[in-house]
Amino acid sequence: MGKGSIRENLEEVQAQIRAACERAGRDPGEVTLIAVSKTKPVPMLQEAYQAGARDFGENKVQELTDKQPQMPRDVRWHMIGHLQRNKVKYVVGKTALIHSVDSLRLAEEISREAVKQGVTADILVEVNVAGEESKFGVSFGEAEELIRQAAALPGIRVCGLMAIAPYVENGEANRQYFRALKQFAVDMGAKNIDNISMNVLSMGMTGDYVTAVEEGSTCVRVGTGIFGERDSSGQQTGQKAGR
Ligand SMILES: *Cc1c(COP(=O)(O)O)cnc(C)c1O
Repeated sequence: MGKGSIRENLEEVQAQIRAACERAGRDPGEVTLIAVSKTKPVPMLQEAYQAGARDFGENKVQELTDKQPQMPRDVRWHMIGHLQRNKVKYVVGKTALIHSVDSLRLAEEISREAVKQGVTADILVEVNVAGEESKFGVSFGEAEELIRQAAALPGIRVCGLMAIAPYVENGEANRQYFRALKQFAVDMGAKNIDNISMNVLSMGMTGDYVTAVEEGSTCVRVGTGIFGERDSSGQQTGQKAGR
């Protein structure tokens, strides 16, 4: 995957998403494709933009804020990487969605900053679906409490859940995790917690987005499949080491 031009790759991923939706009886309009542009230079993002991409994902605050002013204003930026509290002020008000909220202290900082700016920050709670030691995110057991606590904060809207499944060659191996996250979102949605929705399920990357869409993803985060391989000297996706 990710071997053609950016336009060809983007069209291929979009076609795969449509086909997965068809198999699952879903409306393709429910699925947002986020072009994960981390480590890639701005001209490549512009190429993706020209091919129709409007949602871009970055995992580092510095990189996001560097690229943002160089791209058209109608781009929706997604913060998908681990977020440190001292960097919250640079992303609130500048991003469409913060995918990676995994602690109450982080949610509180986002809330404070949002109130200060007079905006509402849309967030997802990151769940460590496979219980991997090396990954961020709360366990399923901890997620409900974090959702309730975050929902009670001013300036924050809990819109759903995010997961980074294990790295696999074959996406099929992650189906169980996507299914579990979807079920958890349905369960949370049924609790009628004030000020939350469970409309957004951010799950699926290059290796497993087709399976994720079949299992109900509304937001796939695809990097390699659009922009090609990244320089492998960087840290692995969503991992604690090398942050
Ligand atoms: C890098 C990254 C992705 C995209 O990974 P690919 O395998 O290149 O598609 C998705 N989500 C997060 C959180 C990432 O850091």
